[in-house]
Amino acid sequence: MTVRRGRNFLQTPGPTNIPERVLRAMHQPAWEYSGPDFIALARQCLYDIRPIFKTEGEVFIYASNGHGAWEAALSNILSPGDKVLVPETGLFSFAWGAVAKQLGVTIDTIDNDWRHAIDPNQVEDRLRADTAGAYRAILMVHTETASGITSDIQAVRQAIDAAGHGALLVVDVIASLACTDFRMDEWGVDVAIGGSQKGLMCPPGLGFNAVNGKARAVGNQGGSPRSYWDWRSRDMDKNPEAYRWFAGTAPEHMIFALCEALVMLEEEGLEAAFARHRRLGNCTRAAVEAWATAGAMELNALVPEQRAESITTIRMAEGFDAKAFQSLLRDRFNVAVGGGLGQLDGKAFRIGHMGDINEPMILGTLASIEAVFQILGIPYGEGALPAAIASLARAHGK
Ligand SMILES: *Cc1c(COP(=O)(O)O)cnc(C)c1O
Repeated sequence: MTVRRGRNFLQTPGPTNIPERVLRAMHQPAWEYSGPDFIALARQCLYDIRPIFKTEGEVFIYASNGHGAWEAALSNILSPGDKVLVPETGLFSFAWGAVAKQLGVTIDTIDNDWRHAIDPNQVEDRLRADTAGAYRAILMVHTETASGITSDIQAVRQAIDAAGHGALLVVDVIASLACTDFRMDEWGVDVAIGGSQKGLMCPPGLGFNAVNGKARAVGNQGGSPRSYWDWRSRDMDKNPEAYRWFAGTAPEHMIFALCEALVMLEEEGLEAAFARHRRLGNCTRAAVEAWATAGAMELNALVPEQRAESITTIRMAEGFDAKAFQSLLRDRFNVAVGGGLGQLDGKAFRIGHMGDINEPMILGTLASIEAVFQILGIPYGEGALPAAIASLARAHGK
């Protein structure tokens, strides 16, 4: 085993750094699951997570990862044979569509080059062409973690409304929740899907479905055969028993973690957390743009306004091995970054800047990356660190 001293820099786009406070909140014995203390805590947690989604609707919490939360949403609103529209954004839109397919749902995709956000005009055209109203839902990823691109939810909502289509708008906000502004109710999102291990700073293991009244009504009448995922049996108002809210014993320690993370976000303020992610995203991009001048790499996202605040995907030029780079960075510098996914496998790396991170963590990461470029003889433009520092100084009022 390689001995690595000092802190591991976990700059992956999930799982992310877990704050000590969150870890400590978990370090305790289990509680009586039906006792008044746990019931009060669970209820508070189920309420306190609503503002994170900016919704007054109910949020269901599953002992699952993001894939489970995907399946939960799909099984409540879709039946085998139903049709959905999936605007492609990258590997995650593809994987989510594949889950729907396995549930017997028919997928129509809108192709995308993974370098641009969803084009709302294409969504509108497809919906207008669907005169029979066959599409039951649009499955869109807000921040696509493979490409480092954030799509405009409001624009997609407007496209649906302009086409006069009744499909549900279902949005994966796993990589944007608590990192980038998301307003479920104001933007007319029917179902939002989240996970614990990204912006929420918790261990992997919780999946969320935030659901509005329209989606609840669809779920009450239809959906697929389901049990654990069923929103109906988890209803807080109908079931006084907290045991039912989690369809069995609650993942108590994950709830302890989540409650603490929600307190931390409350202390920081959601808008301040968004600003922090923007600052660190800008800082990262400033460095990458300087490196890119030597021609060996570039930002994957071509349109500046579409670049994600929580993750940056860097595309390497032909002939450079992104995996060798990633391994050396891990082995010699104890810095973990994400690799390229899907069609970007071996051709890209991804810097996560989401969750519990600050300026020195990003600067340390960027400096370590540059050192590995130097070791491997990967050409990079000069001035990346000064550009990153200047970007931070500007964000802090210089
Ligand atoms: C991480 C991620 C997922 C998958 O979550 P898992 O917990 O790995 O199942 C889905 N969608 C997006 C946008 C993600 O970033």
